Amino acid sequence: MNKFYFSDKLRGIYATFGKAYPAAPVAEAIFRRVESMPDGFMDYSLERLENQPDMPKNLGYHLRHVLWPEYLEKHPRLKATESQSRCNNCSPDMAGFFWAWEADGKSYCLKCACNSRPDLAHIQPWTPRMALDAGLRLSDPAADGRAAPRHLPPEARKAVGHSEKPRIEHLREAAYADAENW
Ligand SMILES: [Zn+2]
Repeated sequence: MNKFYFSDKLRGIYATFGKAYPAAPVAEAIFRRVESMPDGFMDYSLERLENQPDMPKNLGYHLRHVLWPEYLEKHPRLKATESQSRCNNCSPDMAGFFWAWEADGKSYCLKCACNSRPDLAHIQPWTPRMALDAGLRLSDPAADGRAAPRHLPPEARKAVGHSEKPRIEHLREAAYADAENW
């Protein structure tokens, strides 16, 4: 998404509710949530929000979790593209990440080399080969089905919102372009 285009539409959204354009860090945080989406999404969002009585409390969240799924439903081709964003190395339910295990069953959620999220650029990307070379396994050694604890690296935890109990639902959200304020 073009940033100038985004700013223009964001101004429109704030103006709809009689508000001044937000402070730069706020606008930046919202932009990070939608920057991977097409310009047209902001037109759609502005139109939808113009028909609401109140401005959503957390606009970034609303765009990401309410309006974006709506938009995808209306654009099946886009939806298909988005669901194909994972590569063969990614975990099936988590585009951009895959799991690796230590022999004792401790697991890591690694950023896949295909993951180009700008907000995760500082995190080391991994290929399955690299994980194997580092002495990790690509399948859960707890073959008897015992649920081994899964540990996220601190960066990944931060990306999914500092959850004390990493759950797969959180990880799924990490596949979207966002970093803070979950
Ligand atoms: Zn991948």
